[in-house]
Amino acid sequence: MSNENISIHDFDFNLICEYFTNLERQGPGSPEVTLKAFSFIEPLTDTACIADIGCGTGGQTMTLAQHCPGQITGIDLFPLFIDLFNRNATKHNLQERVKGITGDMASLPFKEEELDLIWSEGSIYNIGFEKGLNEWRKLLKRGGYIAISEASWFTVERPAKIHDFWMDAYPEIDTVSHKVAQMEKAGYVPVATFILPENCWTDHFYAPQIAVQEMFLQQHAGNPTAEMLVREQRREKLLYDKYKEYYGYVFYIGKKI
Ligand code: SAM
Repeated sequence: MSNENISIHDFDFNLICEYFTNLERQGPGSPEVTLKAFSFIEPLTDTACIADIGCGTGGQTMTLAQHCPGQITGIDLFPLFIDLFNRNATKHNLQERVKGITGDMASLPFKEEELDLIWSEGSIYNIGFEKGLNEWRKLLKRGGYIAISEASWFTVERPAKIHDFWMDAYPEIDTVSHKVAQMEKAGYVPVATFILPENCWTDHFYAPQIAVQEMFLQQHAGNPTAEMLVREQRREKLLYDKYKEYYGYVFYIGKKI
């Protein structure tokens, strides 16, 4: 079979998971940005209930947990990520307050109005921004907060090449003002938005992948799917380098009213 028509959607999920378990983060972000987003949230107490949805291996969760009180539940679809997440929590001596569970963000195991804070970095796209905001709102207490990072356009127009890439990857990508309007419509006061700095992509996401890609290619020598996966990650990086003035991740912080 020719590889030409394979897209990232067709890759073996186990292979994708294996690739990303070698990284501290599975998406763009940084400890500084997690803490900046957290600075917009009113102080929490020791009894606070927090969910980190689409937590991956927990890079951002551990940062959050080191700076906020309460219990944090990390949820991710992939058991391999959750195993690593729980090992990470133990490594940071956070295991009493931070627990990872396998689950689907489309049917979360929380009661209505149970949560004080919903955290989700680079993950809501899996359910869709608007749907996630609406569904997850029920789980938040009144006055509770949501903090989400999400791919967004910085301009109303952009070159066709990057537009088409995103229309294939995530057609719900939109401008910051549209995302804020969706947040408001879903019943949140938009408290803050800010663009993640470039180093969240370059230093924290793409740079660590260079060594991982070499290792991964050696481990899967001759496997066309693994080669394709690496090629796709490299292509995404080149697209970012070329078109970063048109898109990036934006943090959206809202308060349930
Ligand atoms: N939040 C992490 C970070 O910023 O490093 C991970 C971000 S990664 C781009 C997206 C995460 O969403 C992955 O860990 C993936 O396994 C998870 N995911 C995908 N679909 C999901 C679903 N239906 N329910 C829960 N998690 C899901």
